[in-house]
Amino acid sequence: MDSAKTTADMRLVGGHACLDFVNTVDARRERWGPDLLQTYADLVVWAGRVDLIEADEGRGLLAKASARPALAVAALKRAKTLREALYAALHAEAAGVIVPDDALQTIRDAVAQAMPKRSLSNVGDRLAWQWTERSNLNTISWRVAFGAAEFMVARHDRRSVRECTGPNCGWLFIDTSRGGRRRWCSDESCGTHTRVRRFRAKVDAARSAIRRN
Ligand SMILES: [Zn+2]
Repeated sequence: MDSAKTTADMRLVGGHACLDFVNTVDARRERWGPDLLQTYADLVVWAGRVDLIEADEGRGLLAKASARPALAVAALKRAKTLREALYAALHAEAAGVIVPDDALQTIRDAVAQAMPKRSLSNVGDRLAWQWTERSNLNTISWRVAFGAAEFMVARHDRRSVRECTGPNCGWLFIDTSRGGRRRWCSDESCGTHTRVRRFRAKVDAARSAIRRN
């Protein structure tokens, strides 16, 4: 759980853009939400923070979104559909179960749309993938989908995705710590909340023990 309520100040603790993307829902356990992707601009801000788009691309997308609001609404809706499918797939990994068919199909479709938007280009002294149609309002979803697919197929080259066990959190993250024993999306938020809860429970138990004696 995170006290921040916008994509401008949410914690980016997933360890990969696709995990930070599914974490744009503030909580997913006892209650769902709030959804931090309220507007297309929220999506642009998020994409900039995780380096999926450059600053000039972000400005271009925002200008286009205000000129074509209906297209922006549709692109945001598509991004959220992808997000929930990615959540289902990544949560399945965390739970050690097979990815549900409907989620897989949504991701597959998004990746199929993203693939032809990449072009092999000279970048400095090497070849690299670059995105075409960079001003298309769906470009963020394409980049997320492609990156997520790469992340998921590399399952055996990395640690497993985990689900934060903090009170009403459910954020997903990948543990990049050396010991590999991270339990919370963020030690400062969910780790502290959990320790405070446990401490209170102990104090309450001690008080009622005293009352009984
Ligand atoms: Zn958490």
